[in-house]
Amino acid sequence: MDDKNWMMEALKHLSRIGRTGQDGSNRLAFTKEDAEARAYFKGLMTESGLAVREDAFGNIIGRLEGSEPGLAAVATGSHLDTVPNGGHYDGMAGCAASLAAVRSLRRRGTLRRPLEVIVFQMEESSRFSLATFGSKVMAGKADLDLARRAKDKEGISLPDAMRAQGYDFEALPRAGRKKGELACFVEMHIEQSPILEEKGLPVGIVTAIAAPIRSRVEITGKASHSGSTVMNNRLDALVTAADLVLAVRAVGNRFSRREIVATVGNLVVRPGAMNVVPGGAELWIDLRGTSREAMDEAQAAILKAAEGLAAKHGMPVVFHPLGADDPVRMTPGIVDLMGEASRDLRIPSTPIVSGAGHDTMNMAALGEVGMIFVRNRDGLSHHHEEYAAPEDLMSGLDLLTETLYRLAMRAEGS
Ligand SMILES: [Zn+2]
Repeated sequence: MDDKNWMMEALKHLSRIGRTGQDGSNRLAFTKEDAEARAYFKGLMTESGLAVREDAFGNIIGRLEGSEPGLAAVATGSHLDTVPNGGHYDGMAGCAASLAAVRSLRRRGTLRRPLEVIVFQMEESSRFSLATFGSKVMAGKADLDLARRAKDKEGISLPDAMRAQGYDFEALPRAGRKKGELACFVEMHIEQSPILEEKGLPVGIVTAIAAPIRSRVEITGKASHSGSTVMNNRLDALVTAADLVLAVRAVGNRFSRREIVATVGNLVVRPGAMNVVPGGAELWIDLRGTSREAMDEAQAAILKAAEGLAAKHGMPVVFHPLGADDPVRMTPGIVDLMGEASRDLRIPSTPIVSGAGHDTMNMAALGEVGMIFVRNRDGLSHHHEEYAAPEDLMSGLDLLTETLYRLAMRAEGS
């Protein structure tokens, strides 16, 4: 079997682990289904000639030595955990492609640098509300105090869930890797947006991973009788909220050329009765971008609009920040190398931005980074009907393999 078909077989096998009634997969982190997928994949790694180990969090690392001692490794990989009733490509496609690529490079002969295939634990935030946590642990960026208190819906804490699978939460600081161990990390992943589909292209070369600034906004008006309160004597919090929703969209539109998107994804109205003028409204704003400067400017524009609306409607509009992350640029040298490889292989590609977060953004703290996106149908992801065509996955695999080869033959750098 060639490496492409080998990859498709591995994906087919993984899709059966934690299978749901709707033909999705349920493999939340640190569950028995997750453990089954991990055990299967470790077996594939060993059978492919890799030396396999796990760190304290359960990140799996399979390594193939290179010919020149002392050179830092070229790493690739993704994750095997899923959202509840998730699809069969988000994460798995990158894992299966990584190992298929290393198998084919191993047959090509010894490379200068070591290769590593990494399967990150708990990429999805579904169980403990902690996203890309395995790579955060590896990069030494994890908030362990927050994680120690994290609980799932059943009230099981992360330390207890880890213990049930044989891992020790208190050992996590030892899982951090040193700078200089890894020259770079590259990840293949399905796109999760429909841009490649719209452009008719099988793969994209990621230039940046966007990050969010999130806020919860409280608007306080005055609840009153909808029949007896005359129109010019109202403090209607929903009307102010409605204006703010439009203002957020207007800012998103105004900054869209600078790769900003802005969304009000949730709105709660109080008391929420048909015959009461709304006395309170709460809404959540998610603003994302690829440059912190543009994000800060857009956020300032939203705050200014909110201030104006508070004055216009005569009620307080209060912002509670929920956190701001920095966007991550992919390493220009790797973006260029991937572009050249795609031209040499005659695989049409386009530069693309990732709106979703990935483990790669944390790995940027340890070395150079790059990502390949594979077209996925309707941009549908985190859903049991998620789909990527075999030909596109194979194009992604070819590009990943060539990228890893060129990176592993580089002499310069750490
Ligand atoms: Zn993913």
